[in-house]
Amino acid sequence: TGSGLIVSFGEMLIDFVPTVSGVSLAEAPGFVKAPGGAPANVAIAVSRLGGKASFVGKLGDDEFGRMLAGILEKYGVDGRGINFDQGARTALAFVTLRNDGEREFMFYRNPSADMLLRPEELNVELIRSAKVFHYGSISLIVEPCRSAHLKAMQVARDAGALLSYDPNLRLPLWPSEEEAREQIMSIWDKADVIKVSDVELVFLTKNDKIDDASALSLWHPNLKLLLVTLGDHGCRYYTKNFHGAVEAFHVKTVDTTGAGDSFVGALLCKVVDDQSILEDEPRLRSVLKFANACGAITTTKKGAIPALPTEAEVVTLLKA
Ligand code: ADP
Repeated sequence: TGSGLIVSFGEMLIDFVPTVSGVSLAEAPGFVKAPGGAPANVAIAVSRLGGKASFVGKLGDDEFGRMLAGILEKYGVDGRGINFDQGARTALAFVTLRNDGEREFMFYRNPSADMLLRPEELNVELIRSAKVFHYGSISLIVEPCRSAHLKAMQVARDAGALLSYDPNLRLPLWPSEEEAREQIMSIWDKADVIKVSDVELVFLTKNDKIDDASALSLWHPNLKLLLVTLGDHGCRYYTKNFHGAVEAFHVKTVDTTGAGDSFVGALLCKVVDDQSILEDEPRLRSVLKFANACGAITTTKKGAIPALPTEAEVVTLLKA
């Protein structure tokens, strides 16, 4: 695990999940709090693996915001990039997977504090010290956090950081599918490393086929690594000079939440001190095997954050 700083930019929120599985939101007898937000999960994933992580984003100055800041601190994520909004509340989501297989979402975002991060509030010094700058595009949806997002990317780029992007498509948040596609593609060519899930690949290419041709249709000339994660089918990787697949680990999956964030955190931990890995297929494959192991372990426990593994847990699975 590398020693360079990995800064993860974006939102942190609380998912309220029904205490019983398979019900609709209206039928839920109660809810449990599951802290998350992809960029925050990535920061914690890095820290759990022994890497150096900072989270940059805005929380409400309320009970939930303080709870989330406390969680980052507990996991050793540097909080110098956190701002608290004095007016707006921390983002909340109510999420359920009904028995009919449909996912139901309800968001408390009108707007929430994370959407109100202003460019001038960014801890520019902190972002400048990043060796890797990771982001997800929910914060692209509205101003002022859209401008903050674009500025943070520029600061990191100018300081020489590797830029890592995960679109984190959560469609209900966008006004329309077309807008989601446009906003995601508007920052596509800024990233050095992009990770999409199979669902995002289909959405972005408008093509149901998940194959090399569809993945390569998302290639841009400045890209160093494109990853497509495929759940229990592992992942595919694409670089300028080679591409291939790395299979998943067989585990007892109970909840896949956070697997992608765990995968990304693991990858970034391994490349932060040595970007030459991105050009060396055998070493990249071994890093992706490590990242697949992290993703797999994350699916064996409920929730995202509590399921993120330590390096020792990953090594155990790799030896098994
Ligand atoms: P996302 O959470 O972004 O949709 P995935 O679900 O594809 O991403 O998970 C990321 C990685 O985690 C996969 O590439 C795979 O290595 C691992 N993973 C996810 N689900 C499983 C599973 N059911 N069994 C084993 N590994 C898994």
